[in-house]
Amino acid sequence: MTPKTFSQRLSARISRHRAAYDDGFFIFAILLVASFIFFEVHVFKTEKTASLTKATLELNEIMALSALFCVGLVVYAGRRLLEQKRELTRRIDAEREARVLALEDPLTGLPNRRRFDECLNAALAALPGAQATHAVLLLDLNGFKRINDVFGHADGDDVLSIIGSRLAGLVREGDVVARLGGDEFALLAQHMSGPEAAAGLALRVIEALNAPVRVGNMEHAIGVGVGIGIALAPRDATTVSEIMRKADIALYRAKAESGSAMRFFEAEMDAQVRERSVIERELRKAIAGGDLRVAYQPQMDMKTGRAVGFEALARWTHPTLGEIPPDRFIPIAEDSGLIRELTGKLLRQACRDARAWPSDVALAFNISPLELKDRTLGLRIMSILAETGLAPNRLEIEITESALVRDMDAAKDVLGALRDAGVRIALDDFGTGYSSHYHLRNFKLDKIKIDRSFIESMATDPESAAIVRALVGLGAGLSLEVTAEGVETAEQEASLIEQGCSLGQGYRFSAAVPAAQAMAMVAAGAKRVRRA
Ligand code: C2E
Ligand code: CA
Ligand code: CA
Repeated sequence: MTPKTFSQRLSARISRHRAAYDDGFFIFAILLVASFIFFEVHVFKTEKTASLTKATLELNEIMALSALFCVGLVVYAGRRLLEQKRELTRRIDAEREARVLALEDPLTGLPNRRRFDECLNAALAALPGAQATHAVLLLDLNGFKRINDVFGHADGDDVLSIIGSRLAGLVREGDVVARLGGDEFALLAQHMSGPEAAAGLALRVIEALNAPVRVGNMEHAIGVGVGIGIALAPRDATTVSEIMRKADIALYRAKAESGSAMRFFEAEMDAQVRERSVIERELRKAIAGGDLRVAYQPQMDMKTGRAVGFEALARWTHPTLGEIPPDRFIPIAEDSGLIRELTGKLLRQACRDARAWPSDVALAFNISPLELKDRTLGLRIMSILAETGLAPNRLEIEITESALVRDMDAAKDVLGALRDAGVRIALDDFGTGYSSHYHLRNFKLDKIKIDRSFIESMATDPESAAIVRALVGLGAGLSLEVTAEGVETAEQEASLIEQGCSLGQGYRFSAAVPAAQAMAMVAAGAKRVRRA
């Protein structure tokens, strides 16, 4: 509800008081007239001696005053009635306004979440006949925060209004477009002919939002990307909470894609969401209970056959779920905010283990993209190094390019500080992402690790072989060390050495092994230990 200003409140109070004064004055006047009549009647009755003329006069006076009294009463009653009527209209208006505000999004004028739920509830109470379907489309804009950051919140609001009216223009009479809050919208399309019709609507939404947005006198050349999750009634659900939950699961999947995307809810998504929440709960327990272990995979100097370092890899064996790979639990740790604690514990353990190795054997440790946005990361790493007594120049942080681009400034600060302290930086999975020359030059890296997909196919695919050759050359040109990942065969090893890449990691030498075995490997002069 719009808040009233002080002067509005004051004038309302004054007019209320004025009405009270007016009423008081009226009652006073009526009382005055009434008492005068009473007085006259009294005099009339007591002064028996009065002449007939005087008596007639007095009677006339009484009649006139009585008439005046009646008129006064009528006016007073009329005024009260009018006042009451006005008050009633005011109250009805205020209630209507409050109802509208409670059901409408003030920025776009579209129905809000409550109204959407009401409409959805009504739609689900009248399910369509065979073949037909109701569809709920949940929309979440991509990168809307950036529009707010770059253009300001006022322009951001304008963009939301424009999007609201574009969406409203796409649906049929009787369908509902609502803004659920922030940059989330929802569409309820009723009595559609089937899933294809819902998909068609989703595509029209994507197209409509991709058209450039004009705000003020500026054309924001950027179209707005959007993720859309779709659930159908009665196929997927028949209650409001269930259909919203399922559309939300589908939306989550759509958001995982880059750019605009739509996804229908699928039963197997539901199972995955449940499994994911089990893993999250168990992971929390495992981290707290110290059940995660670190395994070490040697990084070999292929020319000498010596292990020059080990990459720490997280391992988790659950008592009932069995071995859960890091590719599965690391993203869950990131999403659930557990990654910080996980990294802290594993890095501390790895540094302790690495202390026992000869001083020229390095420890490589993976840092997930999400963590690199955290400006306290550098300090945390440095304090673990100090606590465990591992020299900073023995630690190599492995990051991916996607980590660099998520928040360039934070990444530069964190990596810059670590590098100043002597920690080395390696770019992991190189060749799969942006493979940008800019990153190689601007981030002052020490090493690139060629992704294992190129090593795997270089014998059969000339393009992969060319890429490996180019990356080795790039490393030499920029004075960066180059490690080949996923070396599995003697042929791959020989070919890499021949191309001038002497560092390799992979099952050809060893899979990741427990700390004791890694220790044995360095103690034995790092003879090649083949995968069991
Ligand atoms: P990554 O950093 O690329 O690690 C290398 C992965 O390749 C490891 O899988 C390793 O076991 C596997 N690998 C090594 N040699 C070969 C080979 O010759 N052939 C094949 N096919 N695979 C090989 P793993 O241990 O399952 O780790 C997967 C990913 O999980 C890692 O990829 C890394 O991105 C992430 N990860 C593992 N531990 C941690 C951790 O402690 N923190 C973070 N943030 N990420 C981790
Ligand atoms: Ca790695
Ligand atoms: Ca890698």
